[in-house]
Amino acid sequence: MENLLVAENIYKRFGNFTALNNVSINIPRESIFGLLGPNGAGKTTFLRIINQITMPDEGRVYLDGKPLHQDDIVHIGYLPEERGLYKSMKVGEQALYLARLKGLSKAEARERLKFWFRKLEIEDWWDKKIQELSKGMAQKVQFVITVLHRPKLLIFDEPFSGFDPVNANLIKDEIIQLKEEGATILFSTHRMESVEELCDYIALIHKSNKLLDGKVSEIKKEYKSNTFEVGLDAIDEATLRQELETRFQVGPARFKSIQDDLKLSIKIGENETSNELIQFLLSRARINHFVEVIPSVNDIFIKTVTQNA
Ligand code: ADP
Ligand code: MG
Repeated sequence: MENLLVAENIYKRFGNFTALNNVSINIPRESIFGLLGPNGAGKTTFLRIINQITMPDEGRVYLDGKPLHQDDIVHIGYLPEERGLYKSMKVGEQALYLARLKGLSKAEARERLKFWFRKLEIEDWWDKKIQELSKGMAQKVQFVITVLHRPKLLIFDEPFSGFDPVNANLIKDEIIQLKEEGATILFSTHRMESVEELCDYIALIHKSNKLLDGKVSEIKKEYKSNTFEVGLDAIDEATLRQELETRFQVGPARFKSIQDDLKLSIKIGENETSNELIQFLLSRARINHFVEVIPSVNDIFIKTVTQNA
């Protein structure tokens, strides 16, 4: 079975408002799946359904091929959007308490917590009260608690919001490592540009609808336009440009470079490869810069939204 989690035709309504409109999502095992979309798209609602906090009005959810059941909650680690730790309790005490709730023995809980606190260099926080921690610090503690019982499915709702760039990166690295250790990760974010390199798969949600989903590399291949950004050093730039225009679609390009180059964006034919363009350029100029233009997930999102409007 390729997918750990399958959500089929999910509908969720709040009064007259439809928060999820026939959303289906498959999460392949041992992958990182990004649920991306602007604020209010329906991401949190979807994650709450998977965590059985709210019930869908229609649709089914399967974990490991079986309909999702109350008991499955032990296989899921969930970092909710609204972070909730008891402010007046001490960090270590609270972490131990929550770990016990997830079925770890006292000794095991203590050992794993010590390991994580050492790993994230937050050992000094053990005897602090949650209220003494900053928002980002508390979030780090809650991240640890979420992953501590090593569930096969990890769900993080906006895991990077509230973190500074250094800690956001640290958490990104931890998420990658959790995947390498066999976990399947589903997370949501409204900041599409900053996380695409993390995701193996994505789904784009917009106004309660899934606009697009699939493997990031496949989606990007589908949306790329055979365009290359080149920086050229030629004796006669005007002639070179004319020659290029007889053969390719040529436009201006803007990118940072230390060379005083002719900067162009060149689109090749559907059935051509970069080699043909390089061959053409080789005898006519020095190539200082040559990069295929790959659309960002954000570009793809905007394009899809416009097409669907
Ligand atoms: P996202 O996480 O993508 O920002 P949410 O899933 O939190 O979006 O919300 C999607 C939409 O559903 C929003 O318009 C929100 O106001 C609405 N919504 C969410 N929960 C409730 C609720 N309990 N009652 C009424 N409306 C809700
Ligand atoms: Mg949300």
